[in-house]
Amino acid sequence: MKSEVISFFYDFNCIADKCRDNCCRSWNLIVDEETVKKYKKIPGKRGFFYRLSIRKSPGGGYVLRAPFSRCVHQDKCGLCRLQCNGEEECLPKVCRLFPRYTVSYGGYEIGIIDLACEEAAGLFLKQTGRIGFIDSRAPLDIYWRIDEADRDFASVLRKDLDLILDHIYSGDGKNIWELQKDVFAHIYAEHLLLVRNELKNPEDTGFDRETLVNEHYGELTWILQERFKSIYNGLPVIPFSFVNEFVYREFSDLYLILYHPKAFKLFWKYKRYFGKIRESEADKIFTDRLKDLFVRYDWLEEKLTNYYAYKLQTFYVGASVDYYLIEPVSLAAFCCEFLVLLLLTYTYRKDAEFDMDVFAWLISENDRLISHNVSFRERIMKRMREKLF
Ligand code: SF4
Repeated sequence: MKSEVISFFYDFNCIADKCRDNCCRSWNLIVDEETVKKYKKIPGKRGFFYRLSIRKSPGGGYVLRAPFSRCVHQDKCGLCRLQCNGEEECLPKVCRLFPRYTVSYGGYEIGIIDLACEEAAGLFLKQTGRIGFIDSRAPLDIYWRIDEADRDFASVLRKDLDLILDHIYSGDGKNIWELQKDVFAHIYAEHLLLVRNELKNPEDTGFDRETLVNEHYGELTWILQERFKSIYNGLPVIPFSFVNEFVYREFSDLYLILYHPKAFKLFWKYKRYFGKIRESEADKIFTDRLKDLFVRYDWLEEKLTNYYAYKLQTFYVGASVDYYLIEPVSLAAFCCEFLVLLLLTYTYRKDAEFDMDVFAWLISENDRLISHNVSFRERIMKRMREKLF
């Protein structure tokens, strides 16, 4: 079993009571089966209290109760009572590990850091250059075991991910949207081979969009045929109008006020600033504004590219379950574009103070809203399948 972690895995330290957006708020924290069994065996009042602290979730399994969006175990100072009382052995696995996220699949164990934690997002932004995996120092406490993962395919995926990162970091000066399209073209060509059971070596599939369009034109959806045309060079692979639709469809004011009050303010401003833009103009307008930001903040383009690459690494494992390579690459692009919407909204006013700390906060909000929310991700993919691919 090869055991690897993302390069800054061991550098993270939770800042607990100093954290301004504590992870014990606003989240449905899943309680793993092992912990539920433990709670069921604890006798007396203590056991009653533990069993009372969890409830069945509509999607199956159990979650921690969170009255008024605060974890039932959180005290007045925002600290976890279980940790303060030395009862760490009763913490659900997700609380023990977060923001570390560990997966075991097809002969690999990997550990990454979830950027939904603002402190982790700040640490991520401090990394320079390519962010990759290093050997783990000790056996990993695994959160998600994918026992059904195919070993051969897992090793193809691992090799493919390295190839994709090599391309992203090859330094040939392409902008982020061009890189996304290259990666998309590579994955889409692999996907077409995979469905015919002809995918042997990821190196056989290049990153050349023209080859994909010329050789597989009839197999591409019309929207991809359009997006790969030269008139769309310099614009993202997923239309901003598609991303915008999710702002309106998925995030009701009530939901945001209750669970993501800071994001509510951002969304309110987004609708105010950009609500009247025509769909056909959105890609160009947002891309031009983003270019202006890259000029104003010379560190931003590298960090945004790193974010996209990191999301790919985070989601890529999922393909070992369903062989659907398009999902990780689409989700990474979607997360990146959603982050750009938040970024453009925050910096809309020229006098807005923007720096790496603010960007870390935007990343953590973005990841809490999308990347961390499994059911939301499922809805994005369902809609993408219906409308884009
Ligand atoms: S969000 Fe991050 S820093 Fe804040 S309490 Fe949770 S793990 Fe610690």
